[in-house]
Amino acid sequence: MTVCVYTLGCRLNQCESEAIADSFVQEGFSVVGEREASDLYIVNTCTVTSKAEQKARRMIRKFATQGVTLITGCYAQVNADELIGLGDNLTVVPLSKKAQLLKLASHIKASLVAGFTLLEAVRSFNDVEASPFDYAAASFSYHSRAYLKIQDGCDNSCAYCRVHIARGKAISLDEATVVERALALEAAGFQEIMLTGVNLTMYDHRGMGLGGLLEALLAQLSSATRLRLSSMESDHIDERLLAVIGDPRIQPHFHIPIQSGSDRILARVDRHYTIDELRRILERLRSAKDDPFIAADFITGLPGEEEEDFLATRTLIAEEEFSSLHIFPFSPRPDTPLFTASDRVAESVRDERAKELREMGRVLFNRYRSRQVGKRGEVILQNRSGGAWYGVSGNYLDVKIDNPPAFGREGMLVSGHFGPVVARENRIGFVVDRPVS
Ligand code: SF4
Repeated sequence: MTVCVYTLGCRLNQCESEAIADSFVQEGFSVVGEREASDLYIVNTCTVTSKAEQKARRMIRKFATQGVTLITGCYAQVNADELIGLGDNLTVVPLSKKAQLLKLASHIKASLVAGFTLLEAVRSFNDVEASPFDYAAASFSYHSRAYLKIQDGCDNSCAYCRVHIARGKAISLDEATVVERALALEAAGFQEIMLTGVNLTMYDHRGMGLGGLLEALLAQLSSATRLRLSSMESDHIDERLLAVIGDPRIQPHFHIPIQSGSDRILARVDRHYTIDELRRILERLRSAKDDPFIAADFITGLPGEEEEDFLATRTLIAEEEFSSLHIFPFSPRPDTPLFTASDRVAESVRDERAKELREMGRVLFNRYRSRQVGKRGEVILQNRSGGAWYGVSGNYLDVKIDNPPAFGREGMLVSGHFGPVVARENRIGFVVDRPVS
């Protein structure tokens, strides 16, 4: 029997999907990709933008004509009634019960043996006690690096966001369990572990923040294991975190949601930092690493965004020279304070601003990638195709290995130096010296 776990949204969703997929592998199911026919589809949804919701609805309609389809995630939490009407073979498991899906595979197996159909088995899935931190995939069906969820929820209340509404208050996995799970992933052969959470810098276990947790992890993990941090809100980046980030085992890749370069707009949408504070954090990240990859999120057309606010965003981007930009045109989300904002920006203006920033992002990314040529770096090998190895560098560039090593294996960390950009494949070349062990 086959299962496809289709994921929308953030790295945390990807991490949770991997754990769900792994629970099916453990029970003898085959995990397949979205283009393959499958008996069961699990759609892990996102509610950050209306586009993510549109895509979820499209995929759910499609999957429901092909097999039994189970919907979960943030969108399912806030709009279950809307989603259940999209097809016949559907069932919804709200986010609050998503972790229970780790028990679904064994439930299905037992139900099929007892003579139930797959749809009956999925719909009869009873409540099983589970914690949001039960996700701890030992094998990763969709990625060659490991994800480790250490945090969930968020105590902020940004006026455009309904993720904190869907996910609830910030909670953290205790330090000892994080270390134990990281060591298990290392023992399973993963040389890179990405730490994920809804708001990673809100990690707090009995007063120990993310910086303290990283110190504890680095003290236990081997010198050949790397940690990558998923996106980090700048308002909780403290001195201890900035100090530990300099460790070479923390990948030189940071992703900062900024949303606007204007203090006025940041205050309007209830973000808890000023641009001066943000710039100081960026400077510290840059001094901790040699030319790190710094990606930034911006939203165009936030309510009240005047031309001068947009100019402030463009100025910030140009001066900070981010390595990559993720641009989201503002879409009002139900249940959020900005849903009924009267000072909306015209959609045409919002979209024009998004276009302009995406173009800036394209130029900045190419500039960042080009200046890596000849520099030393590390790469996690991801897949082999047509005799060539492909992978992702510590500073988050897609690479093509110029000298495929005989010793290569998926998930292996290798060191070497960057070669010329392979524009045709939208990658940069990489010449391997040796495995990192
Ligand atoms: S920091 Fe803001 S945008 Fe991010 S999850 Fe929390 S409330 Fe939402």
